[in-house]
Amino acid sequence: MTADVLIVGAGPAGAATAILLAEHGLSVRLLDRARFPRPKVCGEYLSPEAPRLLDRLGALKAVDAVASILKGMRITAPNGRTLVATYRPIGAWRPYREHAMAITREALDAILVDRVRSLPVDFREQTRVTDLVVSGDRVLGVEAIDGDARRHTLRAPLTIAADGRASVVAHRLGLRRPHRLQRMAMVTYVEDVRGLERFGEIFVDPPDYAILNPVAPGRANLSVVVPLAHAAPWSGRLDTFFDARVKHLPHLARRIAGGRRVTPVRAMGPLAYRVDRPRTGGVLMVGDATGFFDPLSGEGIFNGLRSAELAVETAVQALGRDDVSARALAGYDRARRLASRDKERVTHALQIVIGHRRLANVAARLLARRPRLLDLLLGVLGDFVPPRALLTDIFQRSRF
Ligand SMILES: Cc1cc2nc3c(=O)[nH]c(=O)nc-3n(C[C@H](O)[C@H](O)[C@H](O)COP(=O)(O)OP(=O)(O)OC[C@H]3O[C@@H](n4cnc5c(N)ncnc54)[C@H](O)[C@@H]3O)c2cc1C
Repeated sequence: MTADVLIVGAGPAGAATAILLAEHGLSVRLLDRARFPRPKVCGEYLSPEAPRLLDRLGALKAVDAVASILKGMRITAPNGRTLVATYRPIGAWRPYREHAMAITREALDAILVDRVRSLPVDFREQTRVTDLVVSGDRVLGVEAIDGDARRHTLRAPLTIAADGRASVVAHRLGLRRPHRLQRMAMVTYVEDVRGLERFGEIFVDPPDYAILNPVAPGRANLSVVVPLAHAAPWSGRLDTFFDARVKHLPHLARRIAGGRRVTPVRAMGPLAYRVDRPRTGGVLMVGDATGFFDPLSGEGIFNGLRSAELAVETAVQALGRDDVSARALAGYDRARRLASRDKERVTHALQIVIGHRRLANVAARLLARRPRLLDLLLGVLGDFVPPRALLTDIFQRSRF
């Protein structure tokens, strides 16, 4: 049986796309090489706006039952100055929830996939897509191999790539490009860290930064991001490198003193890459398959869910008109870029700040003096304050 839409990858972006398409009455086939629940290297933070999308997907209640609440963030500058900001309404901007959340990816992704299972979606786990079926300027479907090593050719008018950072679809269409930001993340869980409260904690110490995110009572996700080149000589000795690196981040080391690492370190890098827009018809891309910059601003899952919403709007219209040409689908890419463009500028500027010790210290001093600016920044990072509000605030203050 041919589906209307084939989705490659059942992470947050793919699962959300499947849920929304099924709710529109389209027939959907969702493929993932993994069997769920499955782990995923991630900082496991959800912004205060992510619940809006999870609510729309019918998944928020289940997420609420297992997620930890984060009232705000504590940010420690290289000189030890600590800023504390909470998620709260600022002027006209209100977050969907006045808190962010921490939840393991094993749990979050399983909740979304369970929601998929409750709908009439042909969901196939342990089915790895190995290639695309392309004819002329059109993607016609995929080649896949299932858990019993059987090969399948699956066709649909529309294929949606939600296969994350190693996207087979992006590779096959020649869209993936390297990024000059060459960083690596090392992620683990720590326990017995004193005073783990309802705050995420960021430690900026150029060229590194680290994030402590309390995902469960007594347990925190600890992610340390370092230049990729610094990790190369330690190949095969990741745990040793991680422990040594943490010792060189004095504020983090002090913070987690007495705590212990309870899982092996997992690494991912290079973190940043770009993906060009497909020029081929019959295909859309969502989530990390469209590119990734850096996990500092913790927006990957939100962006993935948001891109699913936008892709579904375009997909429903295009399939309704029986036109899935590249031209008919181009509106999605424009909408997605527009939705993320301004925040991308903020996150790129932040990367410059956190990459330079003096600049990071100056920024921390400025933000300590201007709590409204700090709240606005947290609101932008939390996806409920438009990035231009930052500029307006900086500009208005500098006139007096
Ligand atoms: C170190 C690190 C920390 C991060 N921290 C955060 C954070 O705190 N908060 C946040 O919001 N974001 C964070 N992110 C980003 C976030 O993890 C991603 O943006 C998010 O997972 C994207 O979701 P996705 O569905 O696009 O891709 P994924 O979650 O990667 O899902 C892709 C799915 O596709 C499947 N797949 C892949 N290839 C194939 C294939 N060939 N055939 C079939 N299936 C396939 C995979 O099994 C997987 O299930 C972080 C990223 C990194 C690297």
